[in-house]
Amino acid sequence: MSMSLLKERAEAIRERIAQAAERVGRSPQNVRLVGVSKTRTVEEMREAAPFLDALGENKVQEAQKKKSLWGEVSTPPWRLIGHLQSNKARKAVELFDTVDSLDSLSLALRLDRIAGELGRHLPVLIEVNTSEEDSKTGCLIKDFPELLDKTASLPNLILEGLMTIGPLTDDEKKVRGAFETLRGLSEKARELVGLPLKELSMGMSHDFEWAVLEGSTMVRIGTALFGPRSYDDKS
Ligand SMILES: *Cc1c(COP(=O)(O)O)cnc(C)c1O
Repeated sequence: MSMSLLKERAEAIRERIAQAAERVGRSPQNVRLVGVSKTRTVEEMREAAPFLDALGENKVQEAQKKKSLWGEVSTPPWRLIGHLQSNKARKAVELFDTVDSLDSLSLALRLDRIAGELGRHLPVLIEVNTSEEDSKTGCLIKDFPELLDKTASLPNLILEGLMTIGPLTDDEKKVRGAFETLRGLSEKARELVGLPLKELSMGMSHDFEWAVLEGSTMVRIGTALFGPRSYDDKS
């Protein structure tokens, strides 16, 4: 893909973010653009990188391979946005700048221990299943308070906010309802644990404007940036 096409698409996405932000009196600077690069080649990712605030990858092994091929070009931060299996936790801490898909207590404990062993503080987001659909990843809303409380107390994890995937529908009310739920949880969580929790990672190619209207600080965009994926990877 040509550099200018990726640049044009990134600019168009930023323009749409800015328009949505303006509607609710928010500054577009407070919404970061995460390019979701699962299934994309390293070449495409390097071309897109200058126009992005971060790269989002779903799988540890895929990210590992890509990072080894990356070379000397500078790279934005890498964020893990897919479900993390506990046996890949160590690799994930080594490879990623942040883990956005923290969804269980056992994973939190493991990431904290490994981050400690590697002498780093790992920024994380708790992923919440706001639409409570079986197919979705993230912790259930009923399990959120305990996960929040424990995560906030772990010495090597830096809890920066929450993440969710909106329900797969074009029903604006339902989608925005899920985003509103996440924002509500984060406001309550802030009081409970006394942390700023300023990040809300929500919004994908088909719903990011609704997410911005509901307070997203980080949209995760694959298709609208890189074009359709050659296989539909829901992981
Ligand atoms: C694939 C994926 C995205 C991006 O989806 P698009 O519809 O291609 O923008 C965002 N977030 C997560 C967690 C994903 O798995």
